[in-house]
Amino acid sequence: MGIRTIGIIGAGTMGNGIAQACAVVGLKAVMFDIQPAALERGVATVGKSLDRLIKKGSMSDADKAAALGRIATATELSGLAGADLILEAATENEALKLKILAQVAAVARPEAIIATNTSSISITRLAEASGRPELFVGMHFFNPVPLMALVEIIRGLRTSDETVDAVTAFAKQLGKTPIGVKNSAGFVVNRILCPMINEAIFALQEGLASAEEIDAGMKLGCNHPIGPLALCDMIGLDVELAVMEVLYGNFNDSKYRPAPLLREMVDAGMLGRKSGRGFYNYDK
Ligand code: NAD
Repeated sequence: MGIRTIGIIGAGTMGNGIAQACAVVGLKAVMFDIQPAALERGVATVGKSLDRLIKKGSMSDADKAAALGRIATATELSGLAGADLILEAATENEALKLKILAQVAAVARPEAIIATNTSSISITRLAEASGRPELFVGMHFFNPVPLMALVEIIRGLRTSDETVDAVTAFAKQLGKTPIGVKNSAGFVVNRILCPMINEAIFALQEGLASAEEIDAGMKLGCNHPIGPLALCDMIGLDVELAVMEVLYGNFNDSKYRPAPLLREMVDAGMLGRKSGRGFYNYDK
């Protein structure tokens, strides 16, 4: 089955990024959000992102208008009824996602694939809520979606090969590189990345070096484009803590225990760039 129209649930950071990625390659995207303001912000964010491409000379005004013309919005879930693929990208909350997915099954075409962009929740558990586990799959995009090349394709226990093949082809159509991953907490990238960042926080907490020195060490010594503490400020310390808690809770292995300094900084509201302070100061 060819995927031509994509329904997206949630018009936030990831939802509007996915809509943009679809629209620029000629696919139709319909974004649904419970907040009308989020839909407006989502479309405006895509517009600004395309303006940056025009400024760089990699897109024309006409291409921008055409891409925006392929993005529609819906204030009711039923607006996604015509979609070949419905991608859930709402807030990371298991109870909320289970509720949304049970509702999606009622409006989606019987042959439509349902995917989730969850960062941490079990694909097998969400698949059952969708009522069509063979047609359910995880598609974990990375932020910012228009720039990041990777998509993790996660199969639940009952996901069919046809579903995996269809979304793998779809990810390639978006110009992304898909990798297949088993359903396991943190999938692959967050399983490796978040403990590495957590270890950098332990190093800071133990006074091994300053934040600047730890970041310089990983940039110059390992060729990372950004240091782990600066990256944590970008991701959000609350998000890093949430992922570590999921890993610790799932594997019950002390190697995943969140660094006490991370927890304390989250308690203090030092969440990174979004709050103006994290390991670095962004007040100005
Ligand atoms: P966000 O907070 O920017 O956006 C979430 C959107 O979902 C909001 O606009 C909200 O109004 C909407 N929403 C909430 N309840 C809804 C409902 N019942 N129906 C429809 N819309 C609803 O969040 P985000 O960063 O875009 O994250 C979305 C998903 O993507 C999460 O599962 C997250 O774990 C995952 N993810 C995030 C990142 C990241 O770096 N931000 C990366 C990969 C995956």
